[in-house]
Amino acid sequence: MADCIFCSIVSGDIPATRVYEDERTLAFADTNPQAPTHLLVVPKEHFTDIADVSRDPEVSAAYLAGIRAVAEQERLHDFRVVFNTGADVGQTVFHLHAHLLAGRPMGWPPG
Ligand code: AMP
Ligand code: ZN
Repeated sequence: MADCIFCSIVSGDIPATRVYEDERTLAFADTNPQAPTHLLVVPKEHFTDIADVSRDPEVSAAYLAGIRAVAEQERLHDFRVVFNTGADVGQTVFHLHAHLLAGRPMGWPPG
C-alpha cells in the first residue's frame, strides 16, 4: 500500500533490522524499544489492524504461527504481545503489527 511505512520495510525500500522472515511474516526491531527485546511482527500483506486481518482465517493462522516462530527463534519464554488497535489506545502505524516485548518485568494492567 502506498505511503505505508511498514509496507516500505517489507519491500526493502526503508531499512530495518530484520530478525525473522518467512513467506508471509516479517519481524524487525522497533526503533524506539520499550524493553530489552522489542520486535515488531508484521504480515507482509497490508492489513490495518488485528480486526481487519481476523476476517481472513488463513492469513490470521499464518500470522499467529509467525509470531510463535519469532518467539521461538529468539528463545523467549515469558513475553508480552501487544496489538494497539485504534489511535485512542496509541496505534500510530496503521499496518498491523504485534509488539513482541520481553526481558524486563511488566506491570498489569498496562498504563
Ligand atoms: P504503534 O504505536 O502501536 O502503532 O506502534 C508503532 C511502532 O512502530 C512504535 O513502537 C515505533 O517506535 C515503531 N516504528 C515506527 N517507525 C519505525 C521504523 N521505521 N522502524 C522500526 N520501528 C518503527
Ligand atoms: Zn502497509
